[in-house]
Amino acid sequence: MSRVAICMIMFLFAAKKGYTAEIFISIFNEYNLTALVISPGNGNYTVTGDGLKLYAAEENEILYVSMAGEELVLRGHTGVLGSFQEISISQYEKDGWYSFMPVDPLHERRYYHGSLQLSIEFGRIKALNIIAEDLYIAGVVEAESGLGWHDMYYRAQSVICRTYLYGNLARHADEGFHLCDEVHCQVYKGQLTSDEVIEKAVKYAEGLVITGTDSTLITAAFHSNCGGQTVNSEEVWLVRRPYLRSVNDPFCSGGRSSSWERKIDTHDWGGYLYEMGLGDSEGTTDPYIFRFNQNFRETHYSIGGFRIPLSKIRNDWNLRSAFFDVKVPDQGSSILLRGRGHGHGVGLCQEGAMEMAAKGYNFIDILQFYYTGIIITDLTDLY
Ligand SMILES: [Zn+2]
Ligand SMILES: [Zn+2]
Repeated sequence: MSRVAICMIMFLFAAKKGYTAEIFISIFNEYNLTALVISPGNGNYTVTGDGLKLYAAEENEILYVSMAGEELVLRGHTGVLGSFQEISISQYEKDGWYSFMPVDPLHERRYYHGSLQLSIEFGRIKALNIIAEDLYIAGVVEAESGLGWHDMYYRAQSVICRTYLYGNLARHADEGFHLCDEVHCQVYKGQLTSDEVIEKAVKYAEGLVITGTDSTLITAAFHSNCGGQTVNSEEVWLVRRPYLRSVNDPFCSGGRSSSWERKIDTHDWGGYLYEMGLGDSEGTTDPYIFRFNQNFRETHYSIGGFRIPLSKIRNDWNLRSAFFDVKVPDQGSSILLRGRGHGHGVGLCQEGAMEMAAKGYNFIDILQFYYTGIIITDLTDLY
């Protein structure tokens, strides 16, 4: 049985027993790291090379790790400490943390709780942050939503984050870790900037996940702002989910991502539509036929009998949302896309949820408003 499979079983067992489980996150996952600097900030860190204890690192000590062929070279303040296949810097205290700064390629320093494991894979350094579930969730909640919001909003976001985590434990199983730190899984940039509101919110919602009526974990999709109406899942991803239904959202209209505009040269727009199959020749189409309104979300941009999926237009033009009108000003040299919202529009609308929380709604009400017919349950009831 692979090491990650064993970890996964231990993890589920720990979760069932109510302990805080540890998870393995690949950090700086999209970077081809070849050299980095680590420094323990707080806690008793033990440095090991290929499983053998080398020494106990001191606070603020600087450790430099680089690649030499198939091995990692570790340097401390006394010089080279050796070459290894795997280096671990581990500690078991909750408030312990270390800083991690990529040197090649250079990137600003981030701070992590938990332990660190380094090895070489595919010609780059693989860095795994081994961290308690609640600390990981607090880090993701901060990275995905920022600071300064209401406790009930953070509780809702932490339940979404936990639901994703447990629903995707095997996503990177063949690479030896649970989740990466990119948008591919959930954005995670290390430890909290000591935000007590997030920390407490994660604690209050401890162990909670979202399931459908069939008791399986849902795909808890979310986005920045729905523009006033969320979208059925099948209109964006072709997969129908009973809990990802379109709802009218009266809460997000004051959000900072509630509207947008984009001016496009009429000739370019006509040329694009011609490529998609509209008209007989490029540029001869009367621009006034481009006009289009969505009072409620439509699935297609329609001109006469000609239709293009709005999600395709959104992708092709890199638009903030597919919920837009097409205005044709009198001079006609450019058209104006006037849009609402930001993101795919499926599931929870973050800016609407923030407003609901500010208005006094409970996090369960918020989740049940955006996810249709769901159940909030304790993880231990599922296994
Ligand atoms: Zn991933
Ligand atoms: Zn909304």
